[in-house]
Amino acid sequence: MKPAGKVSRVALIGSGFVGASYAFAMLNQGVASEFVIIDLNHKKAEGDAMDLNHGIPFASNMRIWAGDYSDCKDADIVVITAGANQAPGETRLDLVGKNAAIFKHIIDAVMKSGFDGIFIVATNPVDVLTYATWKYSGLPANRVIGSGTILDSARLRSLLSSELKVDPSSVHAVIMGEHGDTELPIWSHVNVGGMPLEDFQATHGYPSQEKLDEIFVNVRDAAYHIIERKGATYYGIAMGLARLTKAVLRNENSILSVSARMDGQYGLNDLYIGVPAVIGREGIRDIIELKLTPNEQLKFEHSATVMKQAIKSIFPEHV
Ligand code: NAD
Repeated sequence: MKPAGKVSRVALIGSGFVGASYAFAMLNQGVASEFVIIDLNHKKAEGDAMDLNHGIPFASNMRIWAGDYSDCKDADIVVITAGANQAPGETRLDLVGKNAAIFKHIIDAVMKSGFDGIFIVATNPVDVLTYATWKYSGLPANRVIGSGTILDSARLRSLLSSELKVDPSSVHAVIMGEHGDTELPIWSHVNVGGMPLEDFQATHGYPSQEKLDEIFVNVRDAAYHIIERKGATYYGIAMGLARLTKAVLRNENSILSVSARMDGQYGLNDLYIGVPAVIGREGIRDIIELKLTPNEQLKFEHSATVMKQAIKSIFPEHV
């Protein structure tokens, strides 16, 4: 793996709605020194690089250019947001065939460059494609990270904070499982400034369980609601990806909800799924095993079963 040096390079593959928004977030937050944009549509990559370069005088310096796969050789991180997105009414899992074929091509090209860093994957279905990235690249599992439920957990914190009337940064809440229809909220570990949600409900008289259930449904179905209104979702995930990139490059050891490979944790093996994990310079340093209630564990296992079936559709030998 490339030793952490002064010049940090991030390579973005796929400069569509999500990728371009991520590039914009990266520039505004001054996360990396170099940022290369790669897209099948090279003109789009060039246009984005030009446009972003014109914003540099208003931000901190970052070398930005439209490149090709050979630029991945010296990248610390390759972020993949390339591929098809959901059409109205389509689930994330419906995208698996299309995007797995695109991924085989992309990962082979990145690895051929001599890349030896960390992958961050956001393309859907993200848990399955992160597994595919790990398989196709041959890199250790800690160096292949999926954005998983990072956005879903942020959505939960955001909606809960409005209901509780406190800053989202004071609300700790996690969504686990698939980034998709079988995800689940871990109510048993929600806390508000250190106070368990149950105690908050007892002392304040709200929110009711019905309200919490309604909040979760809005989190789970948020992408459908946004896609119905504007065709795609991108700002939230772009900021989540910038957050993840920062945690890696700055060796933050932050605990974030990501898609990580299970190797016995939660009784699961050989799949990528959304869990809280410690993220630092080596990628996924540690997976946090929350003590789930029996009902949460059951729902999590159901989500894992659905992920395994989806993995099998690309890797028939998978058990
Ligand atoms: P988009 O269509 O706007 O952009 C996709 C880009 O990928 C395009 O610029 C296209 O030219 C490029 N591309 C396609 N094939 C390529 C290849 N082989 N090599 C290089 N580039 C290629 O789509 P979008 O709205 O940006 O969404 C991208 C992905 O992100 C989708 O799969 C979407 O579902 C996913 N997404 C994930 C999350 C999350 O939370 N993980 C949230 C929102 C969207």
